[in-house]
Amino acid sequence: MKKNLVAGAGFSGAVIARLLAENLNETVLVIDKKSHIAGNCYDFRDKNGIMIHKYGSHIFHTNSDKVWNFLKRFTDFNTYMHEVAGIIDGIEANIPFNFNTLYQVFPESLARKFEEKLLKTFEYNTKVPILEFQKHEELKFLADYIYEKIFLNYTTKQWGLSPKEVEGAVTARVPVYLSKDNRYFQDKYQGIPLEGYTKVIENMLNHPNIEVRLNTPFESSEGFERIFYTGSIDEFFSYKYGILPYRSVYFKFEEYAMDYYQSHACINYPNNYDFTRIHEYKHYLKDQSSKTVIAKEYSEQFEIGKNERYYPIACKENTELYNKYLKEAEKLDNVYFLGRLGDYKYYNIDNAVERALNLFGEIV
Ligand code: UDP
Repeated sequence: MKKNLVAGAGFSGAVIARLLAENLNETVLVIDKKSHIAGNCYDFRDKNGIMIHKYGSHIFHTNSDKVWNFLKRFTDFNTYMHEVAGIIDGIEANIPFNFNTLYQVFPESLARKFEEKLLKTFEYNTKVPILEFQKHEELKFLADYIYEKIFLNYTTKQWGLSPKEVEGAVTARVPVYLSKDNRYFQDKYQGIPLEGYTKVIENMLNHPNIEVRLNTPFESSEGFERIFYTGSIDEFFSYKYGILPYRSVYFKFEEYAMDYYQSHACINYPNNYDFTRIHEYKHYLKDQSSKTVIAKEYSEQFEIGKNERYYPIACKENTELYNKYLKEAEKLDNVYFLGRLGDYKYYNIDNAVERALNLFGEIV
């Protein structure tokens, strides 16, 4: 009999499985209903040798030495630092909106005036969420411009809600940045695993105490001393209080016989088309091929049996529903919930890894 059951072979499940296996020397059965490991971080090399992120771009970044040092045991990273462009009024401009964006989208004389005003209002090198930025009456024209051209339509496509309706933390992920730093993230450590994310998870799960079974949905926790559940917490409790809403996305892949399709790995289209952004995967690991593959990303509501869960939708009502499940979870002394779906939190990869590392710390 295995001591531990881990449901879900994404980052959260793989990290906790590895820690149990190597630090407690306990057996761990990892199950996943998908036909592959790595959850939504799953990537693979296609026939052209291009590393495709099947469920959309994943760019690793963290400020945590603990997370970085743990992951470095299982992979090397390249020195990729993510930059995103957006098509604003037909101009390819930097996102997040920063001083470079200002000069890209406005005539120089106007940009200079805005720059002066901005520096009177904010400290250089600070980040200001758009909803905060809009509170500054003296910057109303610029605030409305950024809100309407970058956030309003993108957020409506992505969430089916306006930026004022989604939790502020969501749009605050991409604040206005009083800087010339074009990077999407400022974290100390950033990069793409040299052999891809799937390989990282494979290396983590490669331990004599770990057995992995794919195409295996979670059915019962019976017979295990501890259960680590990284699926959606409402599903574990058979949706007894109702269904936790999620946003889902899907991708339309296209292949082109050209070196590169676009200037950046990710280009956002806030105001045009029905997709939110186009990913071009070759950029991440500089894959050598005469072809290139892009994916157009579309957003839709999650529906059980129809599509995948991607984004928990943070709002008061959903948090209340989640808290009901959390209360149920707290009654179980051998079942632990973790991960984006288990915790119903908009984790980045490093958050998920850190959560699993901390949970293990709590258990031992
Ligand atoms: N966002 C936006 N316009 C952009 C980029 C982001 O309105 O050009 C908003 C949107 O609401 C999005 C959120 O900021 O959901 C967070 O963006 P991020 O790129 O972090 O989303 P992820 O990569 O996690 O999908």
